[in-house]
Amino acid sequence: MHVTILTLFPEMFTGPFDYSIVRRAQEKGNVTVDFVNIRDFASDSYKSVDDHPYGGGAGMVLRVDVVDRAIENAKCQMLNAKCKTILLDPQGTPYTQAKAQELSHLDHLILLCGHYEGVDERIRGLVDEEISIGDYVTTGGEIPAMVLVDSVSRLLPGVLKKPEATQRESFSSNNPILEYPQYTRPETYKGMRVPEVLLSGNHKKIESWRKDQARMRTRTRRPDLTLTKKRDRG
Ligand code: SAM
Repeated sequence: MHVTILTLFPEMFTGPFDYSIVRRAQEKGNVTVDFVNIRDFASDSYKSVDDHPYGGGAGMVLRVDVVDRAIENAKCQMLNAKCKTILLDPQGTPYTQAKAQELSHLDHLILLCGHYEGVDERIRGLVDEEISIGDYVTTGGEIPAMVLVDSVSRLLPGVLKKPEATQRESFSSNNPILEYPQYTRPETYKGMRVPEVLLSGNHKKIESWRKDQARMRTRTRRPDLTLTKKRDRG
């Protein structure tokens, strides 16, 4: 997969993309990322990318003409490639693991990071989708873009050493509930013991305990997920 990130702050990605799974995905060639500075598409000598909102109000708004040129330049030239342009925006569709799975099948993902007070409304008409990483506001779209790239990269074939791990983890499509509790050594810590069943060596019992635990904790922590599951089944 190729990812193009349209941003005013390409330097912000140094660090988060240089470690762990995202780094490994790039080293193995599963993901290639290029950063395009939106400012390079400004047309005046001041390199302006934003302006005051019509009608007045606080803050500055990212200009549609500058962003349009940046998007057009980034668009995929590959024939038959599956490509999507996504605006990161708090007013977009809430991001989910199912969406991460869907995006992992694309050949080219263009991520547009807003900034300031946000983007000119007409920019929404230039993208395929708008995604929000949650009901809160970050300063810019850079951190939300990092969230998308990280969560999609780990789903790409060949990236994780044990890809089966993603099939049972929280929110996965086969089992869209929370994962069961995990423990490791020591067996007892400050009076807290690892559940006996996990030490029993009885794989059937362990499996059944894990299923029960996953269901129980989903019911208590995220009852909305059980409702979604029932609704999806009709
Ligand atoms: N004024 C906008 C509003 O109230 O909807 C918020 C603008 S925010 C300060 C600036 C940029 O950060 C947005 O254009 C978007 O790219 C990004 N952003 C902020 N919160 C986000 C979220 N929850 N999900 C995705 N992107 C977000």
